[in-house]
Amino acid sequence: MNPLIYLDNNATTRVAPEVKEAMLPFFDELWGNPSSMHNFGGQVMRYVEEAREKIAALINADPSEIVFTSCGTESNNAAIYGVAEILGDGAKIITSRVEHPAVLGPCRHFRQHGYDVVELPVDGVGQLDLAALREALYGGPSLVSLMWANNETGTIFPISEIAEIVKSVGGVLHTDAVQAVGKLPIDVQKIPVDLLSLSGHKLYAPKGIGVLYVRRGTRLQTFLIGGHQENGRRGGTENVPYIVGLGKAAELAMAGIAEEEHRVAALRDKLEAGLLATCPDSRVNGDRRNRLPNTLNISFEYIEGEAILYHMSDLGICAASGSACSSGSLEPSHVIRAMGVPFTAVHGSIRFSLSRYTTDADIDYVLKHLPAIIAKLRAMSPFVN
Ligand code: PLP
Repeated sequence: MNPLIYLDNNATTRVAPEVKEAMLPFFDELWGNPSSMHNFGGQVMRYVEEAREKIAALINADPSEIVFTSCGTESNNAAIYGVAEILGDGAKIITSRVEHPAVLGPCRHFRQHGYDVVELPVDGVGQLDLAALREALYGGPSLVSLMWANNETGTIFPISEIAEIVKSVGGVLHTDAVQAVGKLPIDVQKIPVDLLSLSGHKLYAPKGIGVLYVRRGTRLQTFLIGGHQENGRRGGTENVPYIVGLGKAAELAMAGIAEEEHRVAALRDKLEAGLLATCPDSRVNGDRRNRLPNTLNISFEYIEGEAILYHMSDLGICAASGSACSSGSLEPSHVIRAMGVPFTAVHGSIRFSLSRYTTDADIDYVLKHLPAIIAKLRAMSPFVN
């Protein structure tokens, strides 16, 4: 039987055993509603607040600025809707062409409702043009939503400079940090973003739990109207086991970021160097100088990413491709297209995303098998003569 070589951690991570362990009591003896007046339920609130403190510590926020949501998508929607509603129609929303659909979708929704929405371009490595950001900020009140790091290429935006530019003209800054939290040190005291989204399942907590960081004083319309939970900022009974799990994951991430930056980056670099050396006509997509430590996006020219994924999957290797299957045709991803990757390379892009559980042996296994897959597919390619 083939081993499982899981290199698709930007899609989702496994739940850390410590996280699972921390969650279990909240399915058994501690199942009460944290809002209850009686002690049985009420005692649970203490654990929710402990988790809030741990998550706040991970990004150096105040616990009162942490709002639990159901996922990264909800956090992004809550931030964009919550600010856009307050700014009113006619306001400007500035984002980039390479954002996750959970940001691009809400921004485009507001464009249809009369908002002036600007999608900033990126260059060949997926980096933002800061001059274009400055220019876009001329005029009325603006909401800016720019990601901390890209999920497909790992390219890290210059968020510190972005924050300086946006704050200097009084704009509101939201960042989708779903891929950055747990992989990079984040300090909202040093980088004055107003709103920040994160998602549990990208940092070894379960799927279905997220956070929106809301800087104190930020005006935000309530997105999910209901009970008084989360200080009236997000109705709905708290998902206690998952909140506790995310708290544990944040604690582990605090201790593990240095490892992510060194050991995981070294494995990623070994994979990158090995593939570039053994697979002719391959090229890295993304900003190699400013990139998430766990991410490698590489194009193998003249072949289809899906065919590569299929062959790798047969050997137990899990990765992702830069194409999305829509209406029967394989469309290259909007991120790869926005970067102007050459035609011969857009379809053959593969994303490898490593984790704290990735081993040297995993990388050796990929390096042993993938070059042969590429050579075989190239031999069949109608684009190679
Ligand atoms: N933003 C980015 C950059 C992501 O990579 C993802 C998930 O892939 C999301 C948002 C959405 O997060 P969730 O799956 O928790 O809704």
